[in-house]
Amino acid sequence: MTANSEIAVEKFLEHTDAEAASFFEACVHCGECAEACQFYLSTGDPKYTPTYKLRPMERAYKRDKAPFSGLKKALGLAPSPVTEEELREWEPLVYDSCNMCARCTLVCPMGIDIAGTIRKMREGYAAAGFVPEGLQRSAEFVKKTGSPMGVTAKALKAQIKHQEDAVGIKIEIDKKGADYMAIFSSMEIMGYPEVLGAYAKLFKRAGLTWTISSVAYEATNVGVQIGSAPMAKEILQRVVDAAEALEVKHVISPECGHAYGAIRWAGPNMMGRQFKFEVVHIIELLDQLRREGKIPVGKKDTRRMTLHDPCQIIRRGGLLKEPRSLLNDSCANFTEMKGAGITNFCCGGGGGVSANPRAEELKTAAFSRKVEQLNGVQDLEAVVVPCGNCRAVFEDGLDEYDLDLEIIGLSELVAETLAEEDETGA
Ligand code: SF4
Ligand code: SF4
Repeated sequence: MTANSEIAVEKFLEHTDAEAASFFEACVHCGECAEACQFYLSTGDPKYTPTYKLRPMERAYKRDKAPFSGLKKALGLAPSPVTEEELREWEPLVYDSCNMCARCTLVCPMGIDIAGTIRKMREGYAAAGFVPEGLQRSAEFVKKTGSPMGVTAKALKAQIKHQEDAVGIKIEIDKKGADYMAIFSSMEIMGYPEVLGAYAKLFKRAGLTWTISSVAYEATNVGVQIGSAPMAKEILQRVVDAAEALEVKHVISPECGHAYGAIRWAGPNMMGRQFKFEVVHIIELLDQLRREGKIPVGKKDTRRMTLHDPCQIIRRGGLLKEPRSLLNDSCANFTEMKGAGITNFCCGGGGGVSANPRAEELKTAAFSRKVEQLNGVQDLEAVVVPCGNCRAVFEDGLDEYDLDLEIIGLSELVAETLAEEDETGA
């Protein structure tokens, strides 16, 4: 091994800690997690079973950190050391074939957080400098512009201007003392900018003051996807600093899965302190405003619609009832797909997979589970996909599988079905 490869392996070993160790000690090899993983189910290839993806970390643990490992090594009974070649060989399994969806974690009878352990493994990989090119490129864009797609403040302002013109409502940028500061994913800003107009329309009706920061508008956290804690913290710091400088009371996490987990659940631990603002997910906020009668429904959408459950918002984020309550109000023909709710399948592009062109084929294979679910809803016309990343994956997937369905974001649907002022007398 060269000096560099020794350092890489050492860095990887540093991340094989007690938390990861508890996994390897507790696993009873029942195989339940394999039956939960969309990559294994779609391909039937045993290398995509969740536990197989963790093999190098398990070996590293057994060789160097398990009880009596020193003695076993002395007696020649320890497993062989993990090599740089092996780490490189496993890298596509760790990054291309895991959405960090935690479906495996949900079903494990031993309560093992397999997705969390794969995240740990990614931390080892990131520290060792083994990150797929696509994600590395996103990280470089973040360093330069703050956005993984290179969306600059100028581009954001142009999109805001278009939406102001479309809905006839001014969107305040950098408004100090606003109640809410909204952040978005680059995918939403560039691909689905109608969401900006939807917020403007809904918040004006609800009477909220809100703003968008010109220095911290990006919610996507590439650091979390790669497994780099320092990068994740740096990205989050930007949002926290801007929100606190603007003295807002709340930051609105957008229709983006992992961004919610990154700021709401992992955020305070990452920063080592509580924030001076509260984090609220846009779905949570819209549901609250709806229940308070501030955004009443007018004419319902009559198309037959179903809902995709983004893993990080529903399974890992706990927002199970809120989107359904909004949909039942807004649609006359809302129908659940089979397997909906906390056990729903990932779209196949979560956990950085969609930002990794090498994983394209695998992502499309995993989307076959979603196709089965969509085909199971009779006369389906549209699917509500409340995550910008999932939405882009759906666009590609529906195209690949030749399915003709409209895709819509939840905020847009709620804005489109908002009652006219004179319908409610408001
Ligand atoms: S479900 Fe849990 S106990 Fe069973 S093989 Fe997977 S990790 Fe091990
Ligand atoms: S987190 Fe999801 S994609 Fe990753 S191994 Fe588990 S079930 Fe498979």
